[in-house]
Amino acid sequence: ESKAAGRNAVRFFDPALQERALQRAALQREMRQSLRDGDFLLHGQPIVDAQGQVQGMEALLRWQHPTRGPVSPVQFIPLAEESGHILALGQWVLEQACARLVAWRQDPQRCHWTLSVNLSARQLRQPDFVAQVRAVLTHSGADPRRLKLELTESQLLHDVEDTIGKMEALAALGVQFALDDFGTGYSSLAYLKRLPLAQLKIDRSFVRDVLDDPNDAAIARTILQLAQSLDLDVVAEGVETPQQFEVLRAMGCRLFQGYHFGRPQPL
Ligand code: C2E
Ligand code: MG
Ligand code: MG
Ligand code: MG
Repeated sequence: ESKAAGRNAVRFFDPALQERALQRAALQREMRQSLRDGDFLLHGQPIVDAQGQVQGMEALLRWQHPTRGPVSPVQFIPLAEESGHILALGQWVLEQACARLVAWRQDPQRCHWTLSVNLSARQLRQPDFVAQVRAVLTHSGADPRRLKLELTESQLLHDVEDTIGKMEALAALGVQFALDDFGTGYSSLAYLKRLPLAQLKIDRSFVRDVLDDPNDAAIARTILQLAQSLDLDVVAEGVETPQQFEVLRAMGCRLFQGYHFGRPQPL
């Protein structure tokens, strides 16, 4: 079967493609039900310093599907963005995160922790996004300085002026911003400088082969130098081995996240 024939077949009828479309529609329907039934939960993964001390957590959404079992966010987040469910989900994540921050305040081991929350482009594009975040902070009583919002480069490309305005309004409250999966997108340096960012997160694709691939090592080093000159913190994502930790630490990286330090666990 040639590639061209496969492509033509897709144009008329492809059972696999149709199956996938049905599956997506089913998941989107079930998402609505799961939101009502409380089948979503938040996990947290530690972010540690060079001594291995926990500095904070990243909140990671989990879907405990009643019949399918756990569904990965890699699968359901894009669906939730497409259907618009991400708005309700994102709001719920933010509320849960702020409630966690308030609970940690009573705990001497955790009161200094930050909590990082992933944002989707669609959330940020809501005209009243700033007011929503402010309302959750006010109602929960969480300290805005402990809340970090993670964005990706592609999200920032959408409407630059609008995004910067929203980020600045939240940054004025003390909320911090991190650029997630850094190095995989298309940030221009001039543009990076204009954003009120606190942190860059080196994408785990560069961390994975940092020991064996000189190109990945060069990229990690370049991101660290860039961050230093822009006065930003850097988190290395996806650190799985002590060797990766050592080599990144030797490059000057000060914050780390990955299975080597802890897997995502219920918050
Ligand atoms: P992300 O924000 O880059 O989160 C890091 C992902 O890497 C998480 O996958 C985490 O479990 C995984 N990870 C952490 N350490 C390691 C490691 O050492 N090795 C490997 N192989 N993986 C590691 P997860 O939880 O499956 O989340 C995937 C993505 O889904 C996240 O990527 C984020 O973009 C999105 N996501 C998760 N929760 C939310 C949410 O509440 N809202 C939105 N909008 N997106 C979310
Ligand atoms: Mg993230
Ligand atoms: Mg990431
Ligand atoms: Mg990622």
